[in-house]
Amino acid sequence: KPKVIVIGAGIAGIASAIRLSVKGYEVSVFEAGSKPGGKLAELRVNGFRFDAGPSLFTMPQYVDELFQLAGKNSNDYFEYIRLKEICRYFYEDGLRLTAKADLNAFAREIETKTESTAAEVEKFLKKSATIYDVTHKVFLERTLHKLKSYLHWDTLKSVFRFGQIDAFRTQQEANNSFFKDARIAQLFNRYATYNGSNPYQAPATLNVIPHFEYHFGAYLPKNGMYGIVSGLVKLAEDLGVKFHYNQKVEEIRYTSGRKPKVQNVMVNDKIHPAEVVISNLDIWFTYKNLLKDITQPKKLISQERSSSALIFYWGMDGNYSDLGLHNIFFAADYQQEFNSIWKDKTISNDPTVYINISSKHLRTDAPLDSENWFVMINVPANNGQDWDQLIQQARANIIKKISRILNRNIAKDIVCEQILDPRSIESKTGSYQGSLYGNSSNNQFAAFLRHPNFSSKVKNLFFCGGSVHPGGGIPLALLSAKIVSDCVDEVV
Ligand code: FAD
Repeated sequence: KPKVIVIGAGIAGIASAIRLSVKGYEVSVFEAGSKPGGKLAELRVNGFRFDAGPSLFTMPQYVDELFQLAGKNSNDYFEYIRLKEICRYFYEDGLRLTAKADLNAFAREIETKTESTAAEVEKFLKKSATIYDVTHKVFLERTLHKLKSYLHWDTLKSVFRFGQIDAFRTQQEANNSFFKDARIAQLFNRYATYNGSNPYQAPATLNVIPHFEYHFGAYLPKNGMYGIVSGLVKLAEDLGVKFHYNQKVEEIRYTSGRKPKVQNVMVNDKIHPAEVVISNLDIWFTYKNLLKDITQPKKLISQERSSSALIFYWGMDGNYSDLGLHNIFFAADYQQEFNSIWKDKTISNDPTVYINISSKHLRTDAPLDSENWFVMINVPANNGQDWDQLIQQARANIIKKISRILNRNIAKDIVCEQILDPRSIESKTGSYQGSLYGNSSNNQFAAFLRHPNFSSKVKNLFFCGGSVHPGGGIPLALLSAKIVSDCVDEVV
């Protein structure tokens, strides 16, 4: 059997290992950390369990597909529920909205409480579905970097419909024209942050994202987000994949000559031979640390990075009945918040705050009469800002904002705290500048400016994960694994 080495046990590395193992390859995964999952990590403090990274699970079919390919019953590994309520929104002017999964109910609530109408919501989501229709096969499910991808009939059809993807105005411009009420435009602008972008700069094509949530649904794994990792690692191990933890790969080695080909990887000065190597690392560090002698594709790897995050994990004493699983407390001036992040590279004094409370559904995630709050704001990627000072200021502003809107002093309920910031995201997960999603999607060409899933310099070297095509977030990272496994088949 041809030997494959996957570097990194992030979600895309694990999924690549499963796909290739199903195809009959002998797969080993080398992970620098002591556990699998990368950004998809969990944290346990004083009786509280937190999902440390992603908190929203969409497109579960991409996970299910891995169990199907392996001929296994997914329920033996991993279970999840479809959420009836997607998110609660809180505005500074007192408006509160609950986004129900039942779209008619949500549209009616918008019509009742705001200047916008149910018809506006319907029209917007129809557009969102059209963008998905035109883009998903071309931009998400295939490599953009091989001629053959462009010879498919559905690619050609998409090319003819290119005008429909709304690429030539910003998301804010589009949403301003869809919705009479600026607060509803703001609600849908927020989806740009799902891949770390700025709605005042990013093309309105990003309006495809609400389709993922409102059409395909929002979900919660029964064991928390980390359950995705545990389930997939168990599947991989059952298929014979070997995981090696605390094994930081130092170099990818290849033959010399005109057509270099992958030979082995170096870990702790030991050589591990492989016919195929797949790097799940951030592409920036793959070039900087593991492929030092290769000319770097500077233009591709130096694109603007997506935003990062500042997260407070708070164990809270008490129950907050106003809050649900996902909650958003909007900034009063959204544009000013994005200017702070993208122009001034700092944190605004009134950031939009996201609070995820998994214990609302998973009771064992917090002690009795307590809740586990994952409190996150979007912040710029790390460029050496004075984070200690910014964190202190942001913490005070967040506490003031939530206490004001909920009319309750939340500070006194915080019984334990952990913090994750751009510096620790970079050091813990190897994400350049602590960005959450690789490159930003702040311009129309972003999809074409992500690194391909294969190397054009070294034969049998491939790349998966959020920093390469098709982009960041769990669903896209899983798709990168699918593209890689298709590409491997073509050359080995
Ligand atoms: P990564 O998770 O980046 O893992 C890479 C792995 O490589 C790590 O385990 C690392 O230790 C390992 N590694 C690095 N260097 C080496 C080396 N030299 N040798 C061996 N191993 C090495 N996505 C969503 O879909 N929904 C969300 O709600 C969401 N929220 C997020 C919130 C936060 C705070 C963060 C941080 C991310 C969030 N994301 C979300 C994004 C999502 O987590 C990522 O897009 C996805 O997990 C990236 O997976 P990946 O396969 O690229 O690997």
